[in-house]
Amino acid sequence: MFMLPDLPYEYDALAPFISSEIQHLHHDKHHRTYVDKLNKALEKYPDWQSKSIEDIIRNLDNVPADISMAVRNHGGGHLNHSMFWEMMAPARGQEPTGALLDIIQHSFGDLINFKKEFTENAVKIFGSGWQWLVIDNKELKLMSTPNQDSPISQGKTPVLGLDLWEHAYYLQYYNKRPDYVDAWWNVVNWEEVSKRLDQSS
Ligand code: MN
Repeated sequence: MFMLPDLPYEYDALAPFISSEIQHLHHDKHHRTYVDKLNKALEKYPDWQSKSIEDIIRNLDNVPADISMAVRNHGGGHLNHSMFWEMMAPARGQEPTGALLDIIQHSFGDLINFKKEFTENAVKIFGSGWQWLVIDNKELKLMSTPNQDSPISQGKTPVLGLDLWEHAYYLQYYNKRPDYVDAWWNVVNWEEVSKRLDQSS
């Protein structure tokens, strides 16, 4: 039985960049629905219920065929959103430092160019999906996925991810996705990104 994790901060903690209304809707309704539908899909398969969500999404090819699409969508939704909440933190002028900054500079030239490339990719995703910074063969790379697909199903480790479904921003930013992405940079939890980078090496 998978459970909806609490947000690691108050609902209004990311305001004004991400409003309390969005956080309530996004976490309490959308994320809860992914968890409920994942549990429903796994009802017949107790062996799969005891695995971690990472193990399930990493091994989608082995999920029973009759539930594989439900698990891909709702299990992916549960995993992606669980990471997403942790990848954000209240804005206090945080920027990447230390080893994380070094690897960003090595991979993208400098921080400004990294943010520019990530933002451009995020803005051009057609329809619903996610923009990621992943580790792929020990290198940092940008990656986009459609729907709720996770990079870990393709053997890559996400260290930062941005939800680009309209439900993530429409209440506050309407059709202005670039404004949402620009605002989101203020609430990136770089400490969490560093932690994920360390754990992957
Ligand atoms: Mn979402």
